[in-house]
Amino acid sequence: MSGLGSRLDALRRRLLFTDEPDAGVLQGVFALLFGFDLALRAAGGSSLGLRSWPVVGLVVIVAGCAAAVLVPWDRLPGWSVGLLPVLDIAALGFSRMDHAGGATGTLAVVPALWLGRQFGMRGALVAFLGTVFLLAVPGLLYVGVSGANLTRTVVIPVVAGWAALAMSAALGRVRASLQVIEHQRRVSQAIFDTVDVGLLLLDRDGGYEGVNRRHLEFMRLAFPSGHDGRAGQAGEVYDSWGRHLVEKKDMPTHRASQGEEFDDVRIWIGADPLTRRAVSVSARRVEDDAGRFAGASLAYKDVTDYMRALKVKDDFVASVSHELRTPLTSIVGYVNIVLERDDLPPDVVAQLEVVSRNTVRLHRLVADLLHTARTDQGPMPVVRIPTDLAAIVRDCVKAAAPAAARNGITIEMDTPESLIVLADEERIGQVVDNLVSNAVKYTHAGGRVSVSLRIDATRAELSVADTGIGISAADRDRLFTRFFRTRQAEQRSIQGVGLGLSITKSIVESHGGRIEVESELDAGSVFRVRLPLGPEPRRDER
Ligand code: ADP
Repeated sequence: MSGLGSRLDALRRRLLFTDEPDAGVLQGVFALLFGFDLALRAAGGSSLGLRSWPVVGLVVIVAGCAAAVLVPWDRLPGWSVGLLPVLDIAALGFSRMDHAGGATGTLAVVPALWLGRQFGMRGALVAFLGTVFLLAVPGLLYVGVSGANLTRTVVIPVVAGWAALAMSAALGRVRASLQVIEHQRRVSQAIFDTVDVGLLLLDRDGGYEGVNRRHLEFMRLAFPSGHDGRAGQAGEVYDSWGRHLVEKKDMPTHRASQGEEFDDVRIWIGADPLTRRAVSVSARRVEDDAGRFAGASLAYKDVTDYMRALKVKDDFVASVSHELRTPLTSIVGYVNIVLERDDLPPDVVAQLEVVSRNTVRLHRLVADLLHTARTDQGPMPVVRIPTDLAAIVRDCVKAAAPAAARNGITIEMDTPESLIVLADEERIGQVVDNLVSNAVKYTHAGGRVSVSLRIDATRAELSVADTGIGISAADRDRLFTRFFRTRQAEQRSIQGVGLGLSITKSIVESHGGRIEVESELDAGSVFRVRLPLGPEPRRDER
């Protein structure tokens, strides 16, 4: 609002008694109205001599104006400013001591409203008694109890008293509501400060509107050299692995100030690894009546102990899996060497083949656990070199052929001769292997698995379709989360631990690709992997 606009608004609020009464403004406006009445009277032919009572009234009001401006009311007792409206009523009394009469009596409403606004019921009483004794009685004594003068004079104290009373009642209601609001505010503030979650309110421009005590502690850790009170300030804020500083565009406050909503965004705050805390941040939009963005609320939950426990668990799983891998590799190798002998009795060969199959399974499980533990500690590094995806697909299908044949499942394959992509050969092999072996594993005897590889301008698309047990719509959303297995898989006692697909997804994404699934229960599933042929596209191109 412009300077003039805001001044006019302040004047409007004072004249309508929205703000505390301002003695100077009210007295000035009252003097103007009074002068206006006298001018109209003079224009109407009344002769107002310099010594007439109405002019005495005017002098009293002008003196009131001077007092309103010059007296330091805020240093005097609170009731003293009430002398001004009483003086105004007295001035009106003088102005009515004139046989010609005027409309000044109605002006008594102004000091009455003032008294009601400033002193409540007591002010209303003073307004009523003041108009009776300073305005009505002198007027009646001076002009006489003539018909018109009697009604006019008696009605004035009634109207003035009523106006003051109405004003004081309205004020009482407003004060009671304010007390309720203030009480609620204190309760909310107490809750705000008591909860063990950092809370932050942003206004529509990203300014900090409210911060609770817990969040102030987090802020001291994250911004040791102070904070400017605006969303997005960079500080000692690190990503969920605690390695890299978070850029402004990824700061939770910045994202929330852009209207984004999110849950469980994990960050580390504080530079010192010994005292830093891990927090999980959630954000919600605040909207105005028209549904427009009006700010955001953010909650910061301390999850340091949880994150440290996770790390201990991952380190443990990683080291145990690593220790298991070496002896397992040696068992697999030696069993295979023994199996190459041709002097073994057939039953020993059969038993050794069981040992070999189970050791291979155990080997794969350990590799999966190791992979999972590693991806928890940061994105899995992939070494992307030109790799023939078609050859990988052929190898995987060949490896799955014995299991498919055992279960009477046909595998169809449709691949180009060669399809070169930039990829980590071992990891992409793991992806294709997981999908093809799952398709075989979750398909009934007599079913069919179709593996196809296609290429378009920028991507390679691998699709693995089966006519197996299928996946329900509800399960599809959780399919790629760790240790998730569908009820159908569990009910049929098909072996597995639910790690393959989560690993598959993380490998595909670390190549800049995507994995999708279409499926219908009891009809079959199609898993599609799209991989970029060249360097990883930018995030917004995927
Ligand atoms: P695992 O096969 O070891 O259980 P995965 O992570 O590979 O683990 O798969 C997770 C779950 O997804 C499986 O347990 C199974 O319930 C379901 N699933 C995976 N592939 C298929 C498929 N082709 N058809 C039906 N269900 C599947």
